[in-house]
Amino acid sequence: MGSNIPRFWRNLKSRYNLIGTKCANCKEIHFPPRHFCPKCRRLSKLEDFKLEGRGKIETYTVIHTPMDGFEGQIPYVLAIVKMPEGPRLTTQIVDCEIEEVKIGMKVKSVFRKIQEDGEAGLIHYGYKFKPA
Ligand SMILES: [Zn+2]
Repeated sequence: MGSNIPRFWRNLKSRYNLIGTKCANCKEIHFPPRHFCPKCRRLSKLEDFKLEGRGKIETYTVIHTPMDGFEGQIPYVLAIVKMPEGPRLTTQIVDCEIEEVKIGMKVKSVFRKIQEDGEAGLIHYGYKFKPA
């Protein structure tokens, strides 16, 4: 179990702060963080890289059927956001009407409640994006 703890905190840190990885060799930036560069494999070292948390909506879909724990949130917008640093991420778009969401819209990250586990009462937090 001991060896899982640093990874747990690393994942948490990444989720809270939008920390990805940058390849020291090809300079590619990855998010979510990788353990090795998909291009350079183990020939290169990765370093932490903090993303600005800005981007543009590349495509989106309106979700009407919720996943477990998202029941109170439908309908909601799930978008693929392309960040200027390179990576894309799938994220929920908040703080705007569904009709306002457009491809190419500028968005920025916000820290929000993601999901509530009914029985355990656990609340998970992480990033979402809203209009910039
Ligand atoms: Zn690389």
